[in-house]
Amino acid sequence: MKLIILDRDGVINQESKDYIKSASEWKAIPGSLPGIARLCQNGFRVIVITNQAGLAKKKLDIVALNEIHRKLLDHLSQYGGSIDAFFFCPHEPKDNCNCRKPKTGLLDEISHRLHVPLTGVPIVGDKLIDIEAAIAVGAKPIMVKTGYGEETLASGKLPAGVKVYENLSAVVDDLTQEK
Ligand SMILES: [Zn+2]
Repeated sequence: MKLIILDRDGVINQESKDYIKSASEWKAIPGSLPGIARLCQNGFRVIVITNQAGLAKKKLDIVALNEIHRKLLDHLSQYGGSIDAFFFCPHEPKDNCNCRKPKTGLLDEISHRLHVPLTGVPIVGDKLIDIEAAIAVGAKPIMVKTGYGEETLASGKLPAGVKVYENLSAVVDDLTQEK
């Protein structure tokens, strides 16, 4: 089984400084949905992993989060793509939970539920926390310049050897040519 794990905000859809709080605020990054569809067509199972501190801060509730994911899936299905599962952390930093990236709780759960090790599995993100979590579980961290990607690069803190791409579509080009 080929597996890929994607961060949501800044990778699939545009980031928001004040959280994506409703489906109407959700806007795909150009090329991301066709890119996910191409992953599916190339035999990848796609899982989304996302920190949603807006839940803890009552910026949105679980109903709104489900509506956002329903919109994502509806738009994605127009390209023939699908997502296996959404894993989200509903906490904020002060909760000191085990699942908020860069902690690996959600990744550990994915590995456990799918009965697969995450060694070498591509994990795509736009923030250092995504990269750190990927490295911590032995996965293959991949950085995109969308979302906070440019900021992350400018910080100079990206670990050496992490591949950087313009956007998710470019990541998919590379992953589907490697076979
Ligand atoms: Zn959490």
